Amino acid sequence: MYENENVDLLKKRIEELEKKLEETEAKLLKSEYLFKSVIELSPVCIYVHRGEKLYYTNKAGAKLAGVNEPEDIIGTSLKSIISIHPDYNDISKERVKILLSNETSVPYMEQKLIKSDGTIMYGEVAGVSFMCDGVMNLLTVIQDVTKRVELEQAFREREEFFRGTFENAAVGMVLVDLKGKAVKVNSSICEIMGYSEKELLQKNIYDVTHPEDVSKEIANAHKLLENKIHCYHMEKRYFHKDGHIIWTVLSVSLVRNHQGAPLYFICQIQDITHIKQAKEALEYDRLKTEFFANISHELRTPINIIYSSIQLLSMYMINNQLSDNERKVKGYLDIMKQNCGRTIRLVNNLIDTNKMDANFYNLNLQNHNIVKIIEDITLSTAEYTKDKGIDLTFDTDIEEKIVACDADKIERIILNLLSNAVKFTEKNGKIDVSIQDKEKYINVSVKDNGIGIQNDKIKLIFERFGQVDKSLMRNHEGSGIGLCLVKSFVQMHGGEITVKSKYGHGSEFIVQLPTKVIKEENVEGQNKGLHKAKEGFNNYIERVNIEFSDIYL
Ligand code: ADP
Repeated sequence: MYENENVDLLKKRIEELEKKLEETEAKLLKSEYLFKSVIELSPVCIYVHRGEKLYYTNKAGAKLAGVNEPEDIIGTSLKSIISIHPDYNDISKERVKILLSNETSVPYMEQKLIKSDGTIMYGEVAGVSFMCDGVMNLLTVIQDVTKRVELEQAFREREEFFRGTFENAAVGMVLVDLKGKAVKVNSSICEIMGYSEKELLQKNIYDVTHPEDVSKEIANAHKLLENKIHCYHMEKRYFHKDGHIIWTVLSVSLVRNHQGAPLYFICQIQDITHIKQAKEALEYDRLKTEFFANISHELRTPINIIYSSIQLLSMYMINNQLSDNERKVKGYLDIMKQNCGRTIRLVNNLIDTNKMDANFYNLNLQNHNIVKIIEDITLSTAEYTKDKGIDLTFDTDIEEKIVACDADKIERIILNLLSNAVKFTEKNGKIDVSIQDKEKYINVSVKDNGIGIQNDKIKLIFERFGQVDKSLMRNHEGSGIGLCLVKSFVQMHGGEITVKSKYGHGSEFIVQLPTKVIKEENVEGQNKGLHKAKEGFNNYIERVNIEFSDIYL
């Protein structure tokens, strides 16, 4: 009884074990099937070989060999399918040696390979070695990365091409970030600007831009950022490291990322300083020729008038008719005087301009009550303004201001501005001369409601030979050097002259003069003391007559 029970138990146990074995076998089969499928379907080429002889490969391995089924190449040599490029021979041999020495593995490594048709491919190659029947087998895994490597190479070549183009470009090139900082510069721009690459990369582009060009450039950059334009070109001034101005033609475009967000500006900068200078020299030559034509006209006209008047007077004298024609004779003498004045004024201006050019001009600085100088000279022109029906006013917010200045030059400045104001203001117009005290400086304004100056001509009038209307048929006489001299006189005093004008409505010239004084001991003996109308009223009249000599009432 006891024995039978044991036999039953044993049978049951055997049945259980057989069932478990069946289950395990099924599981094994399933996992082997899964494993095989993964290997079969893997895009990675897998080769199992002993020495060179191939024992197993998957579909990808067969495809690489140029056949459809793995069976077509099993038994052949791996070398006939794929071989190592000579560049990688050494490292490959080293790795095989490691694999054959023990059951081990070598990690993925990019290698250059040669396919059976002789074409080159790049593969990430890894290996595993394992013993079977006492012999070492190798499992070689190859992932084809030719496309990636070729793309990388093409990318590198393009990058090198663009870098080379950027670096060796004959024009200056700068990549500027959205805050205006230079992030990449080429050697041409370093040469143009006089800075090293390192120095330029520390700069914001606006640090080296001429202030008058900043707002235009910012406006253009905004248009680019807002996608209103796809590039812009402008003439732009930069400052060279040594401080001089460089004229350039700037072309800018914007690089965006693939989502359209702006990344940086590409700036191409062409140095046109030499062209600009050549143009300026040509323009200067043209102005000079025009100027001499003008001057000849300016000199010949009064001399002709004086000569004709002399001839008439001689005729009266020869015929003993001087006393009978007293009124006419006086008229001719006035005409001669006025035209002598014109000639003297012109010659004086020419001499002063030359002196300026030769740096020969010294100021005779003394402490003067500048308010009095300006008031006296203004009022001494009253006769001219009255005769022309112009209302002249003088206004000041201080009675006295002692300033170190050259009284003679201050008078010339005011007289020139006043004679222009009279020249370019119609009958019954208005001229206001005023002084404002700003403590560290004073502002002297000469304002008229005359014909005004066109906007595009304003810059020109302070230039040598700068006349708005240069034709010999122009309405007003003048050589066009008056304001240039005025500007030089003002600058010699450390001041500035500016003009506001509205064409058809009038002009205002503002002279800003610093209110410095000099210590009395620095003033030479005979110059000591404050300026008093030193040369008397008649002398003023003489000066006014000469300065106003080209105004015909
Ligand atoms: P000019 O000796 O010929 O008057 P300036 O240098 O004094 O030369 O002036 C240059 C030019 O500036 C004048 O020819 C005139 O066109 C313009 N200008 C100067 N002052 C005035 C003004 N108050 N109103 C209008 N135009 C003016």
